[in-house]
Amino acid sequence: MQVYHGKSVFGGIAIGRILVYGREEKPVKPEKTKDAKAEMLRYRKAAQTALKQLDGLYQKALQEAGEDGAAIFEIHRMMLEDNAYGESVENIIYGQQVKAEYAVARTGEHFARMFADMEDAYMRERAADVKDISERLLAILGGEGEKGIRTKEPVILLAEDLSPSETVRLDKEMILSFVTARGSLNSHTAILARTMGIPALVDTGLPLDGKLDGMLGIVDGLAGVIYIDPDEETLTGMGKALEQEKEKAKLLQTLKGRENVTLDGQSILLYANIGNIGDLAAALQNDAGGIGLLRSEFIYLERDRFPTEEEQFRIYRTVAETMGKKPVIIRTLDIGADKQCDYFGMEKEGNPALGCRAIRICLTRPDIFRTQLRALFRASVYGEISIMYPMITSVKEICRIRKIVEEVKEELNARGVAYGNPGQGIMIETPAAALISDLLAREVDFFSIGTNDLTQYLLAADRQNRAVDEFYDSHHPAVLRLIQMVVENAHQAGIRVGICGELGADPGLTREFLAMGVDELSVSPGSILPLRKAILETNVSEYRKTRSRLLSPLQ
Ligand code: PEP
Ligand code: MG
Repeated sequence: MQVYHGKSVFGGIAIGRILVYGREEKPVKPEKTKDAKAEMLRYRKAAQTALKQLDGLYQKALQEAGEDGAAIFEIHRMMLEDNAYGESVENIIYGQQVKAEYAVARTGEHFARMFADMEDAYMRERAADVKDISERLLAILGGEGEKGIRTKEPVILLAEDLSPSETVRLDKEMILSFVTARGSLNSHTAILARTMGIPALVDTGLPLDGKLDGMLGIVDGLAGVIYIDPDEETLTGMGKALEQEKEKAKLLQTLKGRENVTLDGQSILLYANIGNIGDLAAALQNDAGGIGLLRSEFIYLERDRFPTEEEQFRIYRTVAETMGKKPVIIRTLDIGADKQCDYFGMEKEGNPALGCRAIRICLTRPDIFRTQLRALFRASVYGEISIMYPMITSVKEICRIRKIVEEVKEELNARGVAYGNPGQGIMIETPAAALISDLLAREVDFFSIGTNDLTQYLLAADRQNRAVDEFYDSHHPAVLRLIQMVVENAHQAGIRVGICGELGADPGLTREFLAMGVDELSVSPGSILPLRKAILETNVSEYRKTRSRLLSPLQ
């Protein structure tokens, strides 16, 4: 039996077979060949296989996402069939007497660079498509199957690290647990695991080799441990613990339908954080009072090109209709930092967390923003949608957003398209926004405090960097004081304030947030019922008497 310790992202126990997930992007060396003709033949065969795969993907996407969703595979097919691509591969194989892999990799790089340098925004986006095609060909040439996980039964997924765009594309039904060798607790990959409500560990230092594939594993999310090839005693003990977990989960189900009200009668709203339509079921099963944060950027991360207005409209409308009269807060795209989309064609940044991220992309590339706003305004006819803007730092940004919103409404009027009147709020996730929250509160309908970024920016501790995890302390008095200040400023202006960062789900702070007067906590679906239990057992007035002045010196 091998035992590794890591940082726990989400509790719970998983027992199952291990699957080692490998990144497919490897540098390709210029390996020489004596038989260029044979290499050319290998390339042609690989191209035929790729075309077949693309046809299959086109049909699947057509059924699942309609013509718009399937169009990308048609584009890939056309690129692959284009003579220029094949000719470039041929020139490199014969000219340099090298293997097909190298010729494909070089051609992919050349074409991607060529597209990336083009004036036209649509053509620039095609750079990511060429890369995708080349990766597909390389995987085929290397004898690998299609990207993604190939398994018939749910598995414990081991990976070196996972990026949000990789995570979001995995088949969630097939994953019992995530375990990564590296990675940070506050990354978006960790957040996705929490949203899925499955045990997950990061930073285990696990040496990933193929030998682990297929071995039995046990992940104890609570203790932060993974057992590989467990002995009989561990297997029996953990099996029992898993049964107990299930019993506890059943007990929590009895809290469904109850109000979130403390022993002394104070209420608070409990909403769910989700990434896409796929998470709606979990939100409803866990009795969410609404959606407090739909991270719309995942809709972008799942694709190889910009989602169209129609695609977005369909998604937002589905969420609104499914939630009925319950509120749905949709955050406009928060791309940037660790959430990178190749097709945005962004310049490489030295410090992306402080770079062109979220609202900064929207304000500097308003076409992208307008498309999303049109979809949101149209969808708001079908339910209780509110729009939330991320990474705000100034009142000036709100004025710029307002101007774009007015233009979008005019566009919809001109098209004769119906739209609603969604509430508009902002995230308070930069120290600047928190410090001027009195001014910002006059401009918007609501606040939601993003403690993940607020902690990062306030404590100067990169949420992605596991080396500073111990300094990334969301319980730091500076963070808590600022939250209290934001709540007071919001209430003074008569607007409501929630917390949608991960701190909202911390049961150790539930009493504190109630005492501060936070109106809403938006958390991963699996955290809703445990929080309800904590709220039902809390007496806020009693707690206020003993509350630490260090945390809340402002009262
Ligand atoms: C936050 O920063 O707290 C937040 C909710 O946004 P994200 O984690 O997506 O950056
Ligand atoms: Mg954030």
